[in-house]
Amino acid sequence: MLSRRQFLNITGSASIGLLTPSCHKQPLKSSSAHIVIIGGGFGGATAAKTIKKLDPTIQVTLIEPNSHYISCPGSNWVFADFKKIHSLVFNYSTLSRLYHVNVIHQVANHIDPKKQSITLNNQQEIHYDRLIISPGIDFQWNNISGHNASTSHLIPHAWKAGQQTILLNNQIKNMRNGGTVIICAPPNPFRCPPGPYERASMIAHYLKRHKPRSKILILDHKSQFSKQTLFIAGWKKYYGYGTSNSLIEWHSMPDNPIINIDVKKKILESDFGDKFTADVINYIPPQKAGNIAFSTGLCDDTGWCPVTHQTSESTIHPKIHVIGDASTHSPLPKSAFAANAEAKTCAFSIVNILNNQPLLEPTWINTCYSLLTEDQGISVAMVYKLNSKGKIYKVEGAGGISKKTDKQSLSYEATYAKQWLKNITLDSFF
Ligand SMILES: Cc1cc2nc3c(=O)[nH]c(=O)nc-3n(C[C@H](O)[C@H](O)[C@H](O)COP(=O)(O)OP(=O)(O)OC[C@H]3O[C@@H](n4cnc5c(N)ncnc54)[C@H](O)[C@@H]3O)c2cc1C
Repeated sequence: MLSRRQFLNITGSASIGLLTPSCHKQPLKSSSAHIVIIGGGFGGATAAKTIKKLDPTIQVTLIEPNSHYISCPGSNWVFADFKKIHSLVFNYSTLSRLYHVNVIHQVANHIDPKKQSITLNNQQEIHYDRLIISPGIDFQWNNISGHNASTSHLIPHAWKAGQQTILLNNQIKNMRNGGTVIICAPPNPFRCPPGPYERASMIAHYLKRHKPRSKILILDHKSQFSKQTLFIAGWKKYYGYGTSNSLIEWHSMPDNPIINIDVKKKILESDFGDKFTADVINYIPPQKAGNIAFSTGLCDDTGWCPVTHQTSESTIHPKIHVIGDASTHSPLPKSAFAANAEAKTCAFSIVNILNNQPLLEPTWINTCYSLLTEDQGISVAMVYKLNSKGKIYKVEGAGGISKKTDKQSLSYEATYAKQWLKNITLDSFF
């Protein structure tokens, strides 16, 4: 059994990615194995740290182009003016100093699954015994005309935090009172299912105080969305939802999606020819796994990487494990919490494989918090296990959405949301 101390060491204060059965009855053996991790986000950073904590003799290399990581969780709060983007920036110095992870700031250009090697941007070739990739998402631009990656400096997606977040925030701050912000919410599956609706809430929180004659239109690819009843109740309470003065309107358009954007005139056109004029457009494109997963042939025709759920090993290329947003761990959502949990179960699996130990039966937890105002929040939580066929299922009766919606309970949820952000970043990067 894991001792309480070992357990806390691995799961951290956020209690993420629980692993239940008897493991590590014997001390781990030394290993000269080399594990390479591509992508230093929530998934990759957590995997690197966890492997080193489980077996410090394993050589771990983390490949990440950027010297700093900017967290998407918390980035919607920038629009409401109570979070600064610089407070969401983390570096890799603890991973290299404390855990002795070899961090290389390069792009992984090419993976050769047969040779078990990776070629970096600088042409360096690196051999791996096991590879973990956590490259996050990239965007599908092919179902929209008039807008693509190169015009996203005019029409920001802000779905990768950093410059894009600052750009969208500046556009909202410079908008006239009485202006219209249009958020185009993507089809499923996508990174952070409640994200577009929390974003609408945070922008509304700002507009209510500074530009109250303005409006937010959410043009949605979907007929329903995450925590819908809680969001709608909150929008009614705080932003006049359903009245003629509502700050937020939600338009469900699954059969009539936006297919064209006139970037200069800021006009969006739907499949049936409906036109929407905006002052600010936040088009969040449909998504797929990060490009390196595609060029390595790790994706199926869904655009995501199928994996064996117990180990996160690719069902296409052995010895390559895919975690985080790029992978299909459904019904786990594409969230930082899930990426962190998948990283831990994957790390345990790899360390056990290398040490000839039996595989574990993992349990995952995910909670997604969202803010309605600066100090009112809501959440959805779920516990997941493996069934006898090796597929992930939701444990019935565990989790659910916020039950109490009185002011005090929503205020607690907002506090939990802010504490969760601290915990998950500590647990992943420190
Ligand atoms: C606005 C917003 C709010 C969100 N809020 C929440 C929240 O409250 N709670 C929550 O749980 N989740 C939230 N999320 C989702 C969360 O950000 C993602 O699910 C999480 O970042 C996924 O982690 P990842 O490791 O898969 O990818 P990422 O964190 O995106 O990391 C991928 C890393 O891979 C690197 N990379 C990519 N390609 C290569 C390559 N070829 N070579 C080397 N490195 C490469 C990138 O530079 C990047 O650092 C939010 C997302 C958004 C957009």
